[in-house]
Amino acid sequence: MTKTSLEFRTEVKQLLDLMIHSLYSHKEIFLRELISNASDAIDRARYESLTNSGILENEGEWKIKITTDKEAGTLTISDNGIGMTRDEMVQSLGTIAHSGTKEFIAALQSREVKDNPELIGQFGVGFYSSFMVADKVIVISRKAGADIKTGVRWESTADGTFTVEDAEKEGKGTDVILHLKQDEKKYLEEWEIRGVIRKYSDYIEHPVVMEVEKEKESELKKGETVKVREEEALNSGKAIWLRDKSQITQEEYNEFYKHIAHDFSDSARVVHFRAEGTSEFTALLYIPSRAPFDIYYKDYKIGPSLYVKRVQIMDHCEQLIPMYLRFVKGVVDSSDLPLNVSREILQKNRQIEIINKNITKRVLDTLTDMKKNEYESYLQFYKEFGRLLKEGIHYDSARKEMIADLLLFESTQKAGGTYITLQEYIDNMKEGQEDIFYITGASRDEIMKSPYLEAFKEKGWDVLIMLDEVDDFIMNALQEYKGKKIKSVVRGDIKLDKDDNAAKEAEKKLETLISLIKEQLKDEVKDVRLSGRLKDTACCLVADEEGMDPHVERLLKSMGQKVPENKRILEINPSHPIFEAMNRIFEKDRKSAALEEYIGLLYNQALLLEGSKPKDPAAFAGAITRLMVKDAEKSA
Ligand code: ADP
Repeated sequence: MTKTSLEFRTEVKQLLDLMIHSLYSHKEIFLRELISNASDAIDRARYESLTNSGILENEGEWKIKITTDKEAGTLTISDNGIGMTRDEMVQSLGTIAHSGTKEFIAALQSREVKDNPELIGQFGVGFYSSFMVADKVIVISRKAGADIKTGVRWESTADGTFTVEDAEKEGKGTDVILHLKQDEKKYLEEWEIRGVIRKYSDYIEHPVVMEVEKEKESELKKGETVKVREEEALNSGKAIWLRDKSQITQEEYNEFYKHIAHDFSDSARVVHFRAEGTSEFTALLYIPSRAPFDIYYKDYKIGPSLYVKRVQIMDHCEQLIPMYLRFVKGVVDSSDLPLNVSREILQKNRQIEIINKNITKRVLDTLTDMKKNEYESYLQFYKEFGRLLKEGIHYDSARKEMIADLLLFESTQKAGGTYITLQEYIDNMKEGQEDIFYITGASRDEIMKSPYLEAFKEKGWDVLIMLDEVDDFIMNALQEYKGKKIKSVVRGDIKLDKDDNAAKEAEKKLETLISLIKEQLKDEVKDVRLSGRLKDTACCLVADEEGMDPHVERLLKSMGQKVPENKRILEINPSHPIFEAMNRIFEKDRKSAALEEYIGLLYNQALLLEGSKPKDPAAFAGAITRLMVKDAEKSA
């Protein structure tokens, strides 16, 4: 095929623009990114060669080679890995393979990224970082096992387009040739390259070699030295997870994390351990400090990389961790699994199950420890990933109490932005309080004004504030904590005072009025009863014990889900003067039209208070205006 010129996808253009114009610090990471890609390509080739030795081409060991050409001003990174076909090249080096490309662009253009350009690293910019130091990049690649003539040459000057054309390539794998910018020529110097590789890529398992000049004793003339050029590995190549913990610096841990997680920020915690006994494996896991933007997407890649005796089997093995810990990144290297383990085998493998259990426990223990000893960093973690942890309450019932211990909540008695645990809530419960109460809503401000909290405020009882959509489901799944029931303040019959004589008296007094309200609203509500939760407001709607939280109901509806019709209970506040007045009208005239209008108004108000709309807004407005007219005429 002849040379074709193609356009980069919009998101790549935007990314390149950022690369070239905004990202000034740490430009040297381009080398880490390219070496990382080369190493991944070798891993893939090595893995494939386990079942298809045909792709091996007898050209010696797996390696990544760095070559410089001072005259041409080029730096080349070559690997003998899997290589790319033409289609793969156009796909990989012309687009960004992300699930949420739209969100990705938005994230790129966000203020946060504009102010901290290094954050774009978390989006896996990889290859494109070459353009920070090069004004022209050429990639020559050939798929392992394919004919020499099937090579492809890709070229771009980052001007919005790239070209691809056929090329011959002797060895399998990929050469990335960077034409360095005038003021980036330092990357042609051996010492500079050595420094960058030692700093960022030392852990790369395959040798990263370069031809260097060495002095050697002459074979011809004893005592004299001659200069020879020889390949030398610039990295130590020791798999970091197999090294002794005491020998690894925090910086080395961080660099490895950035390599595997495509994150520019350091992780919040490192969990590095070796397990022996029923299952032998080493795990080097990381708890990130910020959430990748795609963590809630369907095709987010879950799980640490799986290695078997140092050979990478897969990039992400989701069987290694429970879904709710999907923020965990890292490597698991097993000594028990067979090298040719397939995805199907992994699904029900006992060794994997043991590893999964073990990792889950370690991660939860680490979080528990963080919460206790490094609260600030835990809080930061929680703000990013707390929502995922909550999923664990639903999916991991065996550990739900342990996970519940990790949850943090705002509450009505604490200042906004401060958090308490369920244990702290219990420790601060007032006399007479037996249950844990919570309220859901869209914002703290909205919640704080809620009439459902009136009795709680009066008594000084704390109520947990829940702002996540998942919260109500999660609290239902948890049901209780340390023997205390967990209750929503908008659900069920809430009585803060157990033996309330005034309430009993009021009930007797208002009995017949209540039956009239029930009769009038029989199609709208399930029941009408006296409220234990209202102090100032006249009435409110509540769900029964099994009913759905109105906030959640609205949320589901807004997401287009079908929600079964759920009648509520109307609760009236016996101490509100309106009911006494209504009672007086009732005793005079049981069929009073005013009474009927008031009942309608009360019901509509209650709808508004729970965040719903009145059934007939025009009729509601009409009724209010009639009242206003009456009142205005009186005062005029
Ligand atoms: P990432 O590595 O995060 O996927 P990159 O932009 O660095 O993103 O690379 C995009 C894709 O291009 C890679 O996923 C891989 O498929 C392909 N690629 C890049 N470099 C190489 C290489 N040296 N050999 C084979 N494929 C490569």
